[in-house]
Amino acid sequence: MEGIQTAFSLKRRAPTALYVHVPFCNGKCDYCAFYSEGCDWDDELQDMYLDSVLAEMTRHEKSCGTLDSVFVGGGTPTVLHDRAFQRLLQGIRERFDLSPQCEWTIECNPESLTEAKIDMMGEIGVTRASLGIQSFNQSCRMMLGRRGTLDGLEHKIRAVRDAGISHVNLDLIWNLPTQTLQMLEQDLNRALDFEPDHISAYALTVEEGTRLAERQVEADDDAFVEAWNLIEATLATRGLHRYEISNFATAQGRCRHNDSIWHGAAYLGLGPAATSFDGVDRWTQPANLWQWIDGQDSEIDRIPPLDRAAEILAFGLRTVEGWNLDEFRNLTGIDPIQLRGQQLQKLQNAGLVELDKTTCRPTTQGLLFNDSIIMELI
Ligand code: SF4
Repeated sequence: MEGIQTAFSLKRRAPTALYVHVPFCNGKCDYCAFYSEGCDWDDELQDMYLDSVLAEMTRHEKSCGTLDSVFVGGGTPTVLHDRAFQRLLQGIRERFDLSPQCEWTIECNPESLTEAKIDMMGEIGVTRASLGIQSFNQSCRMMLGRRGTLDGLEHKIRAVRDAGISHVNLDLIWNLPTQTLQMLEQDLNRALDFEPDHISAYALTVEEGTRLAERQVEADDDAFVEAWNLIEATLATRGLHRYEISNFATAQGRCRHNDSIWHGAAYLGLGPAATSFDGVDRWTQPANLWQWIDGQDSEIDRIPPLDRAAEILAFGLRTVEGWNLDEFRNLTGIDPIQLRGQQLQKLQNAGLVELDKTTCRPTTQGLLFNDSIIMELI
């Protein structure tokens, strides 16, 4: 291993995926640990954010290759006022080279997704709308601190499709202390009624610093495996299959942006709290709108190349198909067996990973207990 250690280096790559973080929300959900300003903003501050993020795009546009995916997330991009929203979309379109098949996702809050915004998204070429639902059940929504209602959701999803945006994701959260399996099943079936080609179903985790943590709420792990199986079986009835721990899609509906990042793609992240990766180093901009506008330095995560390669290996094992070993070798220049053969063997013996001559993938247990894979490999 010593010989590999000194000889091995990873190559820096031009980003082929772009992430833009929009740091505004209408209030703050009780479970949320993402960086966003919940209410302390107005149109003027949004315009300042736009000036800065467009300037950042201009600084970085030449460093990118042709983009295979764009993901505008947050925060809640749709709480931008109309002119700011339009500037953001146009800024991306004008500065970057988007491949003809480029997937372009916008995260939307159903309440702030207006017809005007849907039209803008359709006209500029957005291909995917990701809607934060979390739960259709009012008591679960209250528990999560979700504001507003889902009134008019059906009409909005229809308008999204009419605007030519053919891919629709719905985000759900499960594992809530007040949620029975029956309530979860109702949520899943309600979501399926809208015929999305993608559902993200995240198990609640109570993150430090959130209101849920302050309220000392705990996730309900008692029926975790039953709920996990229920989600998989229910979504499969409508052709949505698990392809990552928390993500389900039809064959054509997978989120290519996230899929590429789990498989080691280089990406550029713009906006406060956004992370970038160039194949070697990872860096994250300040999670503070004003510090980011002032141009404060990013925090750089620089680790030895072999450790980075091991991290890339572990990330890919979040996905159901894991790694094609040749794909991993081509991407990193190192053989995964040389890199972490012993550990992979141990994970295989523990029933968490399946390893053969061409592939390495997690078992169902390996998806359920993915932390164990990460701890072993990183
Ligand atoms: S809408 Fe999303 S980003 Fe905003 S506070 Fe809620 S969970 Fe966090």
